[in-house]
Order: sequence, then structure tokens, then C-alpha cells
Amino acid sequence: MSLTQSFSTNGQIITGAAAAQALIKLRGQDYGCELTETPGRLQLSLWGCLVTLTHDGGAALVQLAAPEDRLIRMVQDNLTELLSAQDLAIAWDDVAAGALAPGLSVMQVAWVNRISAGFWRVRVRAQPGTLPDADRFARGGLHFRLLIPADSSAPVWPRINKKGRVDWPEGNDAPHRAVYTVSAQAEDWVEFDIFDHPGSPTCDWVRTMPIGQPVGLLGPGGGFCPSGAALYLLGDETALPAIRRIMELASVPVHIWVSAPAEDLPENATYSPDLLQDLAGIQAGEDGFVWFAAQADLAKAARKMLLAKGLAKTRFMAAAYW
Ligand SMILES: Cc1cc2nc3c(=O)[nH]c(=O)nc-3n(C[C@H](O)[C@H](O)[C@H](O)COP(=O)(O)OP(=O)(O)OC[C@H]3O[C@@H](n4cnc5c(N)ncnc54)[C@H](O)[C@@H]3O)c2cc1C
Repeated sequence: MSLTQSFSTNGQIITGAAAAQALIKLRGQDYGCELTETPGRLQLSLWGCLVTLTHDGGAALVQLAAPEDRLIRMVQDNLTELLSAQDLAIAWDDVAAGALAPGLSVMQVAWVNRISAGFWRVRVRAQPGTLPDADRFARGGLHFRLLIPADSSAPVWPRINKKGRVDWPEGNDAPHRAVYTVSAQAEDWVEFDIFDHPGSPTCDWVRTMPIGQPVGLLGPGGGFCPSGAALYLLGDETALPAIRRIMELASVPVHIWVSAPAEDLPENATYSPDLLQDLAGIQAGEDGFVWFAAQADLAKAARKMLLAKGLAKTRFMAAAYW
């Protein structure tokens, strides 16, 4: 677990050290984290943040160390929520009370283009007078949460509270928050593609051509380019931006099946009228990686099929995109 630990903070748990250790261990296991445990000491890497809990049976010390402040604040939020749900209190040495939620950049819509019958492309850029901070969307995760404020003239953003938790605006102030994929970015802008479908608050919003309006980008997160001797990518329209991005990032052979109209298909992609049928025909070999993203029932069926084929969980991903 080697990390460049430029940022750090500590938290004290006065009572319930052993229970806290068990809870954090369980969360680490749920999230598939790398984890080591010896009596009185637990260490895990959560979202790139090194978490070390030590105790001698009484109070516990929780140390966080990470290459980015954002990661520290995300883990603070997560652990504080986890512990407080079991009435265990943690007092952090340093909380960024009042700051925007970790990983949230408030930007504004620069332009909206209709790029095909099925897709909108949106570019958002840093707000005038703010420091550009879109660089990070190139690394660590392909996706982000798009926060569309309830009232664009008086947006209310999630902020860190005194305990280290993030308070999300509720009721009439609650922003809409759907997940999208970075399709391109630079230091001060991010582009993403929205598949146009009925009944969608995001699509309703983009159809109004909201140039100049504020939005929040929370992230990046989710997976990055998978590794394997060859990649087998299957998905519907909502997965297309991620498939294109993985194609750009991959340095191994990539095989693609997409259930989207011909005009949206990437070069070398095969049109798939039935993603599960195409999935069934894939021979990923010893070192191939299978990546599948589509509607929830399809993703569930894909996962079942891949497990039945005997593929190890480390060699595939089957994600519900909607
Ligand atoms: C990791 C990840 C990355 C994603 N990247 C992208 C991306 O880059 N571009 C993109 O367009 N989408 C992407 N999606 C999918 C997107 O988040 C969903 O389509 C989401 O539902 C859109 O939110 P919404 O505003 O429509 O509101 P929601 O409240 O989520 O949905 C409103 C209604 O629309 C329905 N719906 C959602 N998607 C579809 C669809 N494709 N066809 C028909 N009905 C639908 C829902 O079932 C619901 O009834 C991604 C999802 C994930 C998990």
C-alpha cells in the first residue's frame, strides 16, 4: 500500500474502538479494499486514501493519508457516517467545515450541441473568477455526478458540516444528480455526452439550452480503463461515452458491441441487437477482460452469465447504468 501521502488528518474514537475496527473492516471488505489486520491495528486503502486504525482496547486513533485533500474529505464523510449509524462518535483534528462537498467543482455551461439524433454534447467550464480545477477529471475515474441545481439563479450546493459529513440540500433545494462520463477535458473545461430519452430531468434540462447556467461536477469516480490482454466492451447508448474513452486509453486490442444506431457507433464497433447473445459468444481467453454496461436487468443477467462461464470476478465488470 504505497501512496504519496501529501495530505493527512487524524480522528479519535473515545469509546467502542473494537466495534469501530470491526465496522471499518467490514466496509473495506464490502468495497473490495486491500486490507491488513493485526491485533489492535487495521490498515486499508479506500479510494486511494490510506486508513490506519490503531487501539489498545480503549480509545482508537484513525489516521488518514492521501495524495489529494479531496480523498481525505471523502473518507472522513464515509467513515463518520458509518460510525455514527452505530452511535460511535469520531472527532477529527481537522474538518473543512463549510467547504463544498469533496470533489465538487462548480462550473457553468459553455455550450450545448446536438451531435446526433440520440445525443447532446455539453461543455462546462470554470466560472469566471474561479481557479480552473478540471484537470483531475483526466485521472482516477471515468465518471462524475452532474449536479443540476433546483434553481439555477440561487443554487444550493452540498457542503461539509462541522462533523466532517456532507450535508446535501433537501426538498426544494435538492439538485438533480445523475452520473455521466467525461468524454473530453482540459484544465478548465469538461465535455460529456447525454443520451436523449423521455422522462429524464437531465434531458429536460439540456433541451432548454442552459448556456451560462451553473452546474456541479462531483468526481471523478467509478472505474477507469480496465486491464487485460484484450478488452471486450459491450453496452447500450448510455455506455457509449465510456466505451469511447476506454478505446482512447487502452493499449491492447479492444472488441466492441453496442446496441446503438449506426451513426453513433464508434469505428470498429459491431452493432448488437442483443447484447446478452453477443456476450454469450465471447471467448475472453486466459487474460481478457469483459466490460458490460447497460440497463439494470441486462447487467444482472450479464453478471450471472459471466459467473456461469467461470470467469473470475476480477476479469469482468457488469454495471447497471440505468
Ligand atoms: C457510471 C455511469 C456512467 C454513465 N455515463 C453516461 C453518459 O456518459 N451518458 C449518458 O447518457 N448516460 C450515462 N449514464 C446513464 C445515466 O446516468 C442514466 O441514464 C440516468 O438515469 C440519467 O438520469 P436522468 O436525468 O434521466 O434521471 P433518472 O431519474 O435517473 O431517470 C429518469 C427516467 O429515465 C429512465 N432512463 C434512464 N436512462 C434511460 C435510457 N437510457 N433509456 C430509457 N430510459 C432511461 C429511468 O429509468 C427513469 O425512469 C451513466 C451511468 C453510470 C452508472
